[in-house]
This record gives sequence, C-alpha cells and structure tokens, in this order.
Amino acid sequence: MRARHKKWAAPYIAAHPQTIVTDPDQLQGEWEDRFPKKQPIYLEIGTGKGQFIDTIAKLHPEINFIGIELEESVVAMALKKVIAHHRSNVQLIEGNANQVVDFFKPHQIQCLFLNFSDPWPKKRHAKRRLTSSRFLPRYHEILAPNAPIKFKTDNRNFFEYSLKSMNNYGLKFDDITLDLHHSKENEHNIVTEYEEKTMSHGPIYRIVAHFPD
Ligand code: SAM
Repeated sequence: MRARHKKWAAPYIAAHPQTIVTDPDQLQGEWEDRFPKKQPIYLEIGTGKGQFIDTIAKLHPEINFIGIELEESVVAMALKKVIAHHRSNVQLIEGNANQVVDFFKPHQIQCLFLNFSDPWPKKRHAKRRLTSSRFLPRYHEILAPNAPIKFKTDNRNFFEYSLKSMNNYGLKFDDITLDLHHSKENEHNIVTEYEEKTMSHGPIYRIVAHFPD
C-alpha cells in the first residue's frame, strides 16, 4: 500500500516509542517486556493502516499482537488507531519482513497473518511475494510447532502461486477457501481495509496451513 508522504508520520512515530519499534533487531526478541501481560504472540506482516490488528486486538485481549509494516506513512496510520483505542496488547514494527528472523526468537510466534500481501505479478519479482520460498523458511524459524499461517488474497494467480509454494515447502493445509465471504469460515472473518475496498469485485481466497514438525 503506497500512501502519500505524511509529514506528521515520522514525529508521531518518534513520540510513541512505547507502542512502535523502529529498530526491532535491537530487541533480540524480548517482546514480553513490551506488553503488560505475558500471553501468546500473534504476528501480522503487512499491517497496512491497521484496521485488522486494531479489531482483532479488541476481540482478543488474551493475545498479544505485533504488526510489521514497511511504509512509514502507512504504519503511522495504524499507530494512530492503536493509540486512540488504547490497545495495550498491540505493538507495531516499522520494518521489513525480510528480516523477521532478527526480530523474534525461534518459535516465539503462535500465529501468522498475511492479509492481502502485495501480489508482485511480474515473474522476475516472484521472490518478493511474502509466500515465496525466500520467506517460508524464515516463518518456519519464528513460528511455534503447529502454529498456523493464515493467508488471504483477492488475487487468483497469487493464491495459486502460494498454494504451490507452500506445498513445495511441505506445509500441511488445514483449510483452503475459494470464496471466504460465502463460506461458513466468514463468521469469524475480520475485514481489512483492502478487503473492504475489493470484496465486491470478486471472491476472497484463504489458505490456513502449518509447518510439519
Ligand atoms: N493488510 C492490509 C490490508 O489488508 O488492508 C494492507 C494490504 S497492502 C496491499 C500490503 C501491505 O504490505 C502494504 O502496506 C505494504 O507496505 C506492506 N508490505 C509489503 N511488503 C512488506 C514487507 N516485506 N514487510 C513489511 N510490510 C510489507
């Protein structure tokens, strides 16, 4: 998600170091100290403007959530939501998921959400896709045994690519949905900003999978 440069973003981020981390590799996985309660950690990569993480954190105070977002102006909008709603069970990272293994201890994460990740349609950019063979081993390292990856997309080619990529890596599929909004799984679905804009245009695909032991 490209957002127009927002002048207020950098100072706003700098003013909220208790909720957003800009040098997560320095933490060396000591996330427990940043949350009021020691409880399971769920991670979202590509948090965007934060609608999903803000909503799920409200519904699940028994879980700690961390959102990683690359774009400063975008993560600043997520931060605004989290601060306005006093979500003490949310931490944000302004950073690149490329480095996810430097941000967490092995097996520290109990669930990973990839919501409408950029599809990078050109073949030469395939390695940038967040479900590519470049990223899967990194997720494998940080996820707890049997922890699910929950991936949603509206892009059929990206969905098919992700199925193949996960299968080639040896992930086990727990659920595959070809039209999330017209399935029974939709009952617990939390709609993201991107989803809200595109859901009238066609089906939403979802994969839930976990790494083998
Ligand atoms: N998840 C949000 C939603 O569903 O509304 C945003 C979807 S948007 C299409 C994808 C987001 O992922 C963008 O905000 C982009 O900046 C972020 N992103 C892409 N690659 C990333 C990476 N390697 N690390 C962290 N964030 C990334």
